[in-house]
Amino acid sequence: MSFLTDAAPALDLGVRWHEGFARLGPAFFTELAPTPLPAPYLVGLNRRLAAVLRLDPGLLSSEAGVRAITGSLPLEGSRPMATVYSGHQFGVWAGQLGDGRAILLGEIDTPSGGQELQLKGSGRTPYSRMGDGRAVLRSSIREYLGSEAMHGLGIPTTRALSVTGSDAPVRREEVETAAVVLRVAPSFIRFGHFEHFAARGALEELRRLADEVIDRHYPACRTAGSLSGNPYANFLQQVSERTAALVAQWQAVGFCHGVMNTDNMSILGLTIDYGPFQFLDAFDPNHICNHSDEQGRYAYNRQPNVAYWNVFCLGQALFPLIGDEELTLAALESYKTVFPRELERRMRDKLGLADAQDADRALIEGVLQRLAKDRVDYTIFWRRLSEHVAGGPVEPVRDLFLDREGFDAWLLDYSARLPADRAAAGRAMLRTNPKFVLRNHLGELAIRRARQKDFGGVDELLDVLHAPFDEHPGHDDLAGFPPDWATHIEISCSS
Ligand code: AMP
Ligand code: MG
Repeated sequence: MSFLTDAAPALDLGVRWHEGFARLGPAFFTELAPTPLPAPYLVGLNRRLAAVLRLDPGLLSSEAGVRAITGSLPLEGSRPMATVYSGHQFGVWAGQLGDGRAILLGEIDTPSGGQELQLKGSGRTPYSRMGDGRAVLRSSIREYLGSEAMHGLGIPTTRALSVTGSDAPVRREEVETAAVVLRVAPSFIRFGHFEHFAARGALEELRRLADEVIDRHYPACRTAGSLSGNPYANFLQQVSERTAALVAQWQAVGFCHGVMNTDNMSILGLTIDYGPFQFLDAFDPNHICNHSDEQGRYAYNRQPNVAYWNVFCLGQALFPLIGDEELTLAALESYKTVFPRELERRMRDKLGLADAQDADRALIEGVLQRLAKDRVDYTIFWRRLSEHVAGGPVEPVRDLFLDREGFDAWLLDYSARLPADRAAAGRAMLRTNPKFVLRNHLGELAIRRARQKDFGGVDELLDVLHAPFDEHPGHDDLAGFPPDWATHIEISCSS
């Protein structure tokens, strides 16, 4: 009786769904189902995250489960939709954008509160413009591993539950194959959602959006805050501060986002939309990771200023609700105090200095200048320095520099500044300076294997990157210098 099996039953994940984003009303989204992909297969399942969300990994990796997390089978209780937003891209107002290849499945109840599930690469939407609504395997594996690497490092980020693939062709510079990432976050709302309604003068919707985000995610803005009891100014200040703290963490770990457009800025201060991102290999403050970014607008050392530019755009969007220019500017001003404070704190942690002293800034500047001058590998330097402070020999650190006398001079100042209990400082540094980051070449090697349907490299990296401060004996190949060919990996917006 084939007619019975033809109508695909929805898969029940056994979770409770909330109304979530849908509560905002139809001005904010278009309801539509994902476009199925033929014969999807599992590329990676994040069992740790499944456990956190109380989702059954056996069900997710079953045939029906894999179809469901690819968008090829509906989920019981889900109300799929694409949301509308606008944004500034590369400093220019781009007008309406929106979820062009993402579909929000809805919000589920979890022990850590409501979490939205979103598919990326699940087909065209009314906001796809010229795009095909798809994502390729290469960029989907990068997003899956990149976001989980950030989580392992303790950096706020959207997360990824799974990546699935299909042999369906997707045309980029070459023909590649399709993949879908199932992303998870308390909210996928971006600065661009606010800009969208502000630009249209849709004040009622703008207010509804702000009220909803404040009620759900920033409730203290209604009752606390120093900005004349103005909840929208308090909200802007909170977002500015979270963004500042986030970018300080990016800088400290050597993370380059690559496309910091305002539509890629999370209202929760999460790292979002992993495209041409990169963890630095050799330290170059001017490094541009996105080959499409010809002007270097999003170069590593410009990220802090660009993030401020972006919160300024958010401030312009919220200004009609705040209703006072001085309050708006005061809320934004907090970025300029929080960012340097947070960056200094993070850098001091990297150096194993628990308390703050005036001379620390010179110590931090001094080491960064030396790293830049000799193009020293950023992650390896910090890890070896930690090992040295924890009791290991100095040669492995010193050998990283061409200018050894320069390094020795810095080390003398630094050693004098270290606390009496150097071993304890070293141990803290080993929990601050990761042994493993998702370098481009590591992702690339896992991607090459995955193209041959060998997903072992993806699983291995996920395991290691979830605990990047642990030693992981037997995995030292993932903690070494990048091979020469890594400098030729071109990562662009094409994804
Ligand atoms: P991004 O810079 O990757 O964050 O994307 C900017 C905008 O383009 C967003 O609105 C995306 O949804 C949309 N977009 C990117 N790639 C595609 C694609 N292949 N199909 C449809 N929309 C896309
Ligand atoms: Mg985006």
